[in-house]
Amino acid sequence: MPLEAPRDSTIAVVGDGFGSTLIHTTAMYLGFRPEDVTIYGPSTTPIGTYQQFATNLGQTVLRSESESHFLPADWPTFAQLNAYSHRDVRYLWRSIKRKYNPGVAEIMTQATVVARDLGWDACRYPHRVGWLQRVTDGQGRRWFQLFDEQANPIGRAKHVALSLGHGPLAFPPLLARAREDPRIADRIVQGYEAKQYLPQGRYVVLGAGIASVNEWANALDAGAKVLALTRNPIAEEQDLNVPRCLFESRGIDAFQRLDFDQRIAYLGSVLRGTHPRREGWKAKVQKGQAEGRFDALIGEIDQIEPGPAGLRVHATSQHGEDPGWLDVTGVVAATGFDKNALAIPLLRRLIEHYDIPMVGPRMRLENDCGVPPLDHEDSRLMVMGLTANAVVPNGDTIHGLKYAARRFVADCARAEKLRQRSFPSRVRMQLHLTRRAAAAMKRVEKTTQLA
Ligand SMILES: Cc1cc2nc3c(=O)[nH]c(=O)nc-3n(C[C@H](O)[C@H](O)[C@H](O)COP(=O)(O)OP(=O)(O)OC[C@H]3O[C@@H](n4cnc5c(N)ncnc54)[C@H](O)[C@@H]3O)c2cc1C
Repeated sequence: MPLEAPRDSTIAVVGDGFGSTLIHTTAMYLGFRPEDVTIYGPSTTPIGTYQQFATNLGQTVLRSESESHFLPADWPTFAQLNAYSHRDVRYLWRSIKRKYNPGVAEIMTQATVVARDLGWDACRYPHRVGWLQRVTDGQGRRWFQLFDEQANPIGRAKHVALSLGHGPLAFPPLLARAREDPRIADRIVQGYEAKQYLPQGRYVVLGAGIASVNEWANALDAGAKVLALTRNPIAEEQDLNVPRCLFESRGIDAFQRLDFDQRIAYLGSVLRGTHPRREGWKAKVQKGQAEGRFDALIGEIDQIEPGPAGLRVHATSQHGEDPGWLDVTGVVAATGFDKNALAIPLLRRLIEHYDIPMVGPRMRLENDCGVPPLDHEDSRLMVMGLTANAVVPNGDTIHGLKYAARRFVADCARAEKLRQRSFPSRVRMQLHLTRRAAAAMKRVEKTTQLA
């Protein structure tokens, strides 16, 4: 049961997704008490927001590797846990070969068990946060006063983590305008929205990243035809959204030694659309090609109107012959989220009110993801997730969130001079959660590996 009344706490997490459970778990592991942590948000489970997107996309395995999981300590890795719970050593072999991807069902089971066992929901105040005010108490201690979206006070916290998830879905401007035309609006969808493919349909799928490849497979599975339309020739293969070295703490530390502008330039070069090599998908695409149901075109849509098949789209190319006019049933834009920090209402208010420095669409965060000028050692304000990827390049992954959560909770423990949980007690907690997760995962059907 969530909290019924607001309360003051040492740590507040604004947002009730993956980031919140990783901070909560780390805090409990380190020795904070349940009453020290308050999570703000209306979701009844920390996996809800991600799971809705994953369902819409038809995602069955994570991009992440074996070390990205929800237990407080890294060992056992997820492949080891899955191998144990399903009595299948092949997961270990795949992991050694870097061809293991946790199944969505299995890892969501693990996340649910950990959150439930550690009392995530009992620490949650089920309201959205609309505003944060920096305040100082009678003893000169710094706090944040939190308000809900109706401007009611909903508790104070010494340290606040903002884990707000993604901004709004992004559409190319032409498609955003076309979605306002009621004749064709429902034929233009985003990869992360719910959708249905007609078996006789012909669909343009924009982009060549992981979400697009997922949609190629979904449409082909439904019996439909796919026209994969990319602005540029398809990018080289890269299975994760940043190079693998940036998925390790040492890689992230090295990245943080670059100055802010160098980091932005580096991210610009590595955060290309990624085209992951997954044997399962490759086989589907090859079969689709052989059946005349899959075609890849290079071009960009510059006109769109109603047509006999539902839509007529016109595409031009900067790399050779124009695809021209195409009659299609629908368009799927796998074009991700609006990454501008100003697109998230709470961040926008904070940026404007507190004059938070910006570099283009990003906040100029400190190396510890701190938000200047509000962040102080004795009262931290940090951001995690996609909005922090200029500091943690893989910020929008379980691994990146965990990296940020651990550093944040350790900073809070130092600031509060926390008496930390003893080593044997931590080991007991880890083993208990491991056993519980393994028992629950055993009952989950094995997910087919795609790599
Ligand atoms: C389709 C898809 C596939 C992905 N695949 C992978 C993968 O394979 N591997 C991987 O590591 N990562 C993956 N990710 C990324 C991963 O889901 C995110 O990194 C992670 O969910 C971000 O955690 P978060 O807590 O910041 O946000 P979320 O989990 O999105 O949760 C944020 C929550 O905060 C709530 N909220 C927002 N504003 C407020 C407010 N003002 N007050 C209170 N609550 C608020 C939202 O309603 C939401 O419930 C994927 C993401 C998507 C969309």
